[in-house]
Amino acid sequence: MDISDVLTRLRDFTDERDWAQFHTPRNLVLALVGEVGELAEVVQWRTDEEVLEHARTAEGHEALADEIADVFTYLLGIADALDIDLDEAVNAKITKNAEKYPAHLARGSNAKYTELP
Ligand SMILES: [Mg+2]
Repeated sequence: MDISDVLTRLRDFTDERDWAQFHTPRNLVLALVGEVGELAEVVQWRTDEEVLEHARTAEGHEALADEIADVFTYLLGIADALDIDLDEAVNAKITKNAEKYPAHLARGSNAKYTELP
């Protein structure tokens, strides 16, 4: 997936509907929260095993893929509205996390970085 192609498509979709006027960062963050809620709705009340089982069905796979795509497109829209290069931001954050969680200290541990030895 090329993020810039997706971003172009998303901007075209928005412009064709004249929706940019509604896509303030605040509104997009709230829409993202709503979509995270919809994703949560797909997995709620299911055990971990049941979620994986659901994801293997056509209906479950589509429901999860739709909500994950909604979450991603809102994240992309928020980054765009705030002039944040998502590719650069994600890579910078992974680097920061790698520094916070050195593999030799964090391997196999679920401890927060402040609790690592
Ligand atoms: Mg949705």
